[in-house]
Amino acid sequence: MLNIEKIKKDFPILARKIKGNQLYYLDSAATSQKPMQVLKAMNDYYEKHNSNVHRGVHTLSEEATEFYEGARKKVAGFINAEEKEIIFTKNATEAINLVSRTLGVKRGDEILSTVMEHHSNIVPWQMLNGVKVRYVDIDKNGNLDMGDYEKMISEKTKLVAVTHVSNVLGTVNDVRKIAKLAHDVGALCLVDGAQSVPHMSVDVKRLGVDFLAFSGHKMLGPTGIGCLYGSKDVLDFMNPFMGGGDMIKEVTLAKTTYNEVPHKFEAGTPDIAGAVGLGTAVDYLSVLGMGNVQKHEEALATMAMEELAKLKDVEIYGPKKRAGVVAFNVHGLHSHDVASMLDEHGIAVRSGHHCAQPLMTRLGIVSAARASFYVYNNERDVLKLASSLRDIINQIRGRVG
Ligand code: PMP
Repeated sequence: MLNIEKIKKDFPILARKIKGNQLYYLDSAATSQKPMQVLKAMNDYYEKHNSNVHRGVHTLSEEATEFYEGARKKVAGFINAEEKEIIFTKNATEAINLVSRTLGVKRGDEILSTVMEHHSNIVPWQMLNGVKVRYVDIDKNGNLDMGDYEKMISEKTKLVAVTHVSNVLGTVNDVRKIAKLAHDVGALCLVDGAQSVPHMSVDVKRLGVDFLAFSGHKMLGPTGIGCLYGSKDVLDFMNPFMGGGDMIKEVTLAKTTYNEVPHKFEAGTPDIAGAVGLGTAVDYLSVLGMGNVQKHEEALATMAMEELAKLKDVEIYGPKKRAGVVAFNVHGLHSHDVASMLDEHGIAVRSGHHCAQPLMTRLGIVSAARASFYVYNNERDVLKLASSLRDIINQIRGRVG
């Protein structure tokens, strides 16, 4: 069990007032808040150890390298990968783009994505010239139509790209099964873990996926650092993403040979302080236990669905069994209006298309409001959301009537 009152105290921003009200932060799927342990670790790094990595033999440079590579080790352990399988990127989006640009997908190849993806797992594939992108559909409950995989996957499929958890529906996809289907036809499987790695135990070896992309800022870490896990057999055969310092073994005016993985994919000075922050975030989450984190968020999502279902005129999207994300609309109101009215009560929820326009179209809506939960949320946050939403609906009905 998580001690939420104790956890809340680690997040200084939660003491803020919004328009005179206490802050209820229900937008962690967009970005999480940062505990003071993460802020302190980054500050300490800059105050005491700041230098460039991999390049110097002086003490500070050696310390900076130890911090940076130490963070890689922590992140690797967190998802049961090897250190050389962890490439630091800017975010999940850059991680997916890295794969799309370096995998060597050719004209005539097919990529199999899904209609529930975030744009960052659709657009990079559409940008590949001459490559056909196909999309697995969802059923009426918001689960992937597994029959579509059987129908659409073929020896033309080069890669299956799928989100582990939908950022709108909260659906948790069976990526282990999907990776197996991909491998059966000789395709690779890339999983967008932006909404899973922060919220549940993810073991890349158990899932058998080839790539996993995720962002530090959604898992209590800072913005500016993300990760691509790639299985070492695959990474070894991929071309570098960007050229420059650190990714080389030797450069002559005639040619360049490349560094070993993961450095082959990390050109230029990396986000060292970001890695330190992410490593500390991983420590923080590991102490809580990812099994506890997942159970806690699932319980909040279930409670939120029950509470919102009591309100007339509220429609909720997605399956019953889900991660800590609840997207909804109030009939007759735009989601932006709902979100701004909730903001008046101190409640932060996301609204709009959530970078998932094809999913919005599939659901027959243009936008939705979304509450998302994390380790610092509790039942009080859910009840506040429900009671404020009830007040808003009553107020609107009163005005209209
Ligand atoms: N995939 C999913 C499922 C997401 O929810 C997000 C962030 N909303 C992303 C990818 C992109 O993450 P980032 O903007 O940090 O690259």
